[in-house]
Amino acid sequence: RLLVIGSANVDLFAHVARHPTPGETILGQGGERAGGGKGANQALAAALQGAPVTFVGAVGQDGDADVALGALRTAGVDLSRVAAVADAPTGLAIITVSADGENTIVVISGANATVTPEQAEAAVAASGPDDVVLLQGELPRTTTEAAVRAAVAAGRRVVLNVAPWNALDRDVLTSADPLVLNEHEAAQAVEELGLEASGDGGTALAEALVTAGTPSVVVTLGAEGAAVVDASGTDTVPSRRVTAVDTTGAGDAFTGALAARLIAGDPLRAAVEHAVRVGAYAVQHHGAQPSYPGLEQELP
Ligand code: ADP
Repeated sequence: RLLVIGSANVDLFAHVARHPTPGETILGQGGERAGGGKGANQALAAALQGAPVTFVGAVGQDGDADVALGALRTAGVDLSRVAAVADAPTGLAIITVSADGENTIVVISGANATVTPEQAEAAVAASGPDDVVLLQGELPRTTTEAAVRAAVAAGRRVVLNVAPWNALDRDVLTSADPLVLNEHEAAQAVEELGLEASGDGGTALAEALVTAGTPSVVVTLGAEGAAVVDASGTDTVPSRRVTAVDTTGAGDAFTGALAARLIAGDPLRAAVEHAVRVGAYAVQHHGAQPSYPGLEQELP
């Protein structure tokens, strides 16, 4: 199984002609709410690509919990390790989208901040030898670090997408197989680990991260696809040219699909080729979770 230990939010959208300035009130449109959070997004993307998925996280005891988890439930994700906590609301992301397509996002972690190291460690302890553990950067740092260390100690493969960037401890960053980052996060990881890269492109950053002892690194390159580096060398996996209408959650589609293919037994490069196609599909459709393809959809 794929064990996704991560965040679940409600995304609340406001569509505006332009973003308000401090102190200003403007009228907007929208108000639609959808499931979000990088953990839930990746769990859904993986489940829709056929992986058996368990999601580990927390929501509040409120109506938003159903919105946050609804798509996962419909997709058959095991939610038995999601805590419903009394002392915090379900996580909420307030997303303002202006007419020129630019976003501002405020994330209120809420229940996501209550996921404990013990909850993550218990889920890892209950996993099987062939299970893969997938984490992002939206849970408390101590929880993410404890989960990675428990997974490594149990001999589980860890896929770690440090988004948003957190300065996780070196042993945690370098035990990921693969470490999955966009170019911006990869630059921060290279700096944090005190590495020298031969350039500032994604491929050079990925190569530098492997020199730190990370078994494999995948750096996403937006419309260019992704770079893969491991002991067998460096490859760039290009993307088909597509018309992007909304790139929200594309990185999560990519990472969830990658993990789904690893669970299915694909080698890393084949899994990245599939993930690039799922990412390209997602940018051709609106929203994060609503843009993720199932097995019946034709990919670019
Ligand atoms: P993030 O959105 O997390 O910053 P990227 O911009 O690198 O990360 O995008 C993640 C993945 O989404 C890419 O590897 C690619 O598969 C897909 N993607 C993003 N933008 C495009 C695009 N314009 N055309 C095709 N695929 C895209």
